[in-house]
Amino acid sequence: MDCIFCKIIAGEIPAKKIYEDDFVFAFYDIHPIAPVHVLIIPKKHIESVNDLEKGDVEIMGNMFLAAKKIALELGIAEKGYKLLVRTGRDGGQEVPHIHMHLLGGARLREDIGIMKNKG
Ligand code: 5GP
Ligand code: ZN
Repeated sequence: MDCIFCKIIAGEIPAKKIYEDDFVFAFYDIHPIAPVHVLIIPKKHIESVNDLEKGDVEIMGNMFLAAKKIALELGIAEKGYKLLVRTGRDGGQEVPHIHMHLLGGARLREDIGIMKNKG
């Protein structure tokens, strides 16, 4: 499959892995926007939240559990962090394999703006 995140899971594209279990794979974002920026992805190729099915709830639950474990391991659990899942064009999703951004290590701004001149 021609998906960069599936290739990262398969080891065909190198990535700095931080966590893996039966359902989930997690690695550092190549362009971090926070002191801690990890991507948590399902091993199953699911394009976006729009493609989730009832049978995927165990996978999604395990993504949250992975976030909890990684935050604890990286020492940001107590101070807190942000979990972000972009969906589709308006949500700013660039990679069509569902992923949860784990962002932390500093106080993060909340600036959800509206893009101008981007119909
Ligand atoms: P999105 O905008 O789809 O929510 O986020 C995609 C994220 O994937 C971006 O933060 C981008 O930096 C990251 N990314 C894209 N390609 C690669 C890659 O090949 N390796 C890693 N580690 N991160 C990537
Ligand atoms: Zn994929």
